[in-house]
Amino acid sequence: LRREKINAQQQLVETQQRLLENLQSSERILAQRVDERTEQLLALNQKLEALSMVDGLTGIANRRQFDQVLAREWTHMQRKGHNLALVMLDVDHFKTYNDVCGHQAGDECLRSVAQAIASICRTGDLVARYGGEEFVIIAPGTDGSQAVQLAQRACDTVRALAMPHPLEHAAVVTVSCGVAVMVPSPDSTLEALLGYADAALYQAKARGRNQVVGGDFEAK
Ligand code: GH3
Ligand code: MG
Ligand code: MG
Repeated sequence: LRREKINAQQQLVETQQRLLENLQSSERILAQRVDERTEQLLALNQKLEALSMVDGLTGIANRRQFDQVLAREWTHMQRKGHNLALVMLDVDHFKTYNDVCGHQAGDECLRSVAQAIASICRTGDLVARYGGEEFVIIAPGTDGSQAVQLAQRACDTVRALAMPHPLEHAAVVTVSCGVAVMVPSPDSTLEALLGYADAALYQAKARGRNQVVGGDFEAK
């Protein structure tokens, strides 16, 4: 009887031990799964964050990223007392291009224009799609003449793509650019800088398109 009791007790201890080991191993697997899932979620979140900052059509920064970077650079340049340059670019006669060549060709054209503009920007500049067929470059630490040069390079590069434009007098797809430069101060506003660039762009259109206007609005 005693031997049977000892055997039974031993079996009980062994069973408890096995159960414990099973439990510990399940816990380890669970913890590992949680770690894996957390890592996957983090990666997914980063992807979503990146997607929400990028324009789906052209792959460059979208308006949301532009707004964030402009606000950040405004404060940054104000602290440093440096120039903040803005170039606004608008595709010329794009409605006609769309109407004649079709919306898909229009989309393709916007992609090419975006890549051309991005290709001439320096590290530290940001190129974004401002909306529709409008693009914008933020160039921190850039003075009036450098910004006009940058805009002229963008203008030349887009024209050099030599994408045929259905308008006879236009011949190829071009952009007009408005440039504005400011040293941000507590008396000035970011909206004023945007307004100057927009007004310069309007003048570039009025003067015949495919050109750069700016510098005149430079506020020191
Ligand atoms: P301007 O030289 O004065 O800038 O004339 P415009 O024809 O370029 O200007 P307008 O504002 O009249 O037309 C802009 C056109 O851009 C109208 C719209 O159909 C087109 N557009 C805006 N966003 C997109 C887009 O995502 N894809 C395509 N294919 N077309 C777009
Ligand atoms: Mg426009
Ligand atoms: Mg246009």
